[in-house]
Amino acid sequence: MTEVTVPAQAGAPKAESGVMVRAEQVHKSFGSLEVLKGIDLEVRTGEVCCLLGPSGSGKSTFLRCINHLEKINAGRIWVDGDLIGYRERGGKLHELREKEVAAQRRSIGMVFQRFNLFPHMTALENVIEAPVRVRGEKKAAARERAAALLDRVGLGDKLGTYPGQLSGGQQQRVAIARALAMQPKLMLFDEPTSALDPELVGEVLDVMKDLARDGMTMIVVTHEIGFAREVGDSLIFMDGGVVVESGAPREVIANPRHDRTKAFLAKVL
Ligand code: ADP
Ligand code: MG
Repeated sequence: MTEVTVPAQAGAPKAESGVMVRAEQVHKSFGSLEVLKGIDLEVRTGEVCCLLGPSGSGKSTFLRCINHLEKINAGRIWVDGDLIGYRERGGKLHELREKEVAAQRRSIGMVFQRFNLFPHMTALENVIEAPVRVRGEKKAAARERAAALLDRVGLGDKLGTYPGQLSGGQQQRVAIARALAMQPKLMLFDEPTSALDPELVGEVLDVMKDLARDGMTMIVVTHEIGFAREVGDSLIFMDGGVVVESGAPREVIANPRHDRTKAFLAKVL
């Protein structure tokens, strides 16, 4: 177990209007390997933040820290004003109980590179699983909502189909519908199109664009520069566990200031 040093400060920011995610000096190590070396970031409500960077720069680890899949060693992350993993009381930080952690996780949807669908369940069953089991929704109501969500991602005719019979792009769209079924206030995407055949990338990006247009707050780790330029409100370039450069996507892509950003963009463009 690594030690958690989260300094308690008086007057730390509580819910700031218009801010969905705030990270301050987030540090994360695996043993002696320091993967995140003080990440600062802010994502405003309704915005799409694209996170770019070479393999191994800590992008997945950072997303996983937001969603409690990893515990940070120092720093703080707030989602919608809630401190992730801790509660502040009497000027001190207390670790949240398991139930409270679970509640925070439920409000954040995550979509991975690999779709992680339950193979023995149909598309519809995959989508209703969490709402019914975790939230105790009635099956009939959950089914109706799941059908609407699958329709929204263009799979209204695949409700009874098993993942094995779906293309990678269709499976990823089911995974998105499944995350949305929990009515998250924030969606995290970790290279959602990287495992797809090139001809299937567009259909997944289109669903994400539609979500963005609808006002969903999203952090998207992607190498799809076109998506970042077109849909992103902000772009963050990470390398070696630090934010090297950030700004408006068009600006950063057209005029990267740092050599590392230039070198990365030259490879993916
Ligand atoms: P990215 O998503 O940018 O490719 P990652 O966050 O996956 O980067 O990984 C950053 C670094 O952390 C890599 O060196 C990786 O090997 C290491 N790492 C990630 N997860 C673990 C883990 N659970 N244990 C040990 N090292 C890890
Ligand atoms: Mg990764």
